[in-house]
Amino acid sequence: MQTINLAADCDQAFMDAVARESGQDLKSCYQCGNCTAGCAYSQDYDIPVHQIMRLVQLGQKERVLSCRSIWLCATCQACTTRCPNNIEVATVMDVLRHMARRAGKAPERLVKSFTDGFLASVARHGRVFEAGLAAVFALKSGKPLQDAGLGPAMLTRGKLAFLPHQPGGRGKEEVAEIFARFENRTDAAPAKKTGEDAQ
Ligand code: SF4
Ligand code: SF4
Repeated sequence: MQTINLAADCDQAFMDAVARESGQDLKSCYQCGNCTAGCAYSQDYDIPVHQIMRLVQLGQKERVLSCRSIWLCATCQACTTRCPNNIEVATVMDVLRHMARRAGKAPERLVKSFTDGFLASVARHGRVFEAGLAAVFALKSGKPLQDAGLGPAMLTRGKLAFLPHQPGGRGKEEVAEIFARFENRTDAAPAKKTGEDAQ
């Protein structure tokens, strides 16, 4: 068990910033643990999501922005739907990821590469092109054949396409507009050109 030195480490401005960016009343979290109980990734997190909420309340900026959990979160919203205080916990996790990026604390090269690649693929095609993302990520991982065995089963079940999906209607344009609005935010991190642009 780790001990937190509240007097030395508390950064009240951090909690205020997370509350402001997420639009959530973080003080209303009373640590019931429902979010963690419903999170499919709890077993892989280094800090469970209810403890992340508590650490944010306690202004533990360094520990929160350096944790691995925020990069494993799948934004599935299970925590949000289970919270008895209507806190959008998944939004809080998203805000923490953005803060970690801005603070230069995106921890693992591959996690960061996957996130960049996913967003670049969505920006380019209107939705993710799974085969392209998988191919580039496999190359960057240095283990290109690690998940190759999954390919045939995914193909036969229609889970992988050789060409990008084409969103109907104005789907692609609407997604592009979302990315443009984000890029034009005054607090947005500069756009990062990556090799995933080819996906
Ligand atoms: S949104 Fe993230 S933290 Fe919340 S339940 Fe899903 S994976 Fe867990
Ligand atoms: S479910 Fe809501 S109130 Fe309960 S620990 Fe999670 S964030 Fe806090």
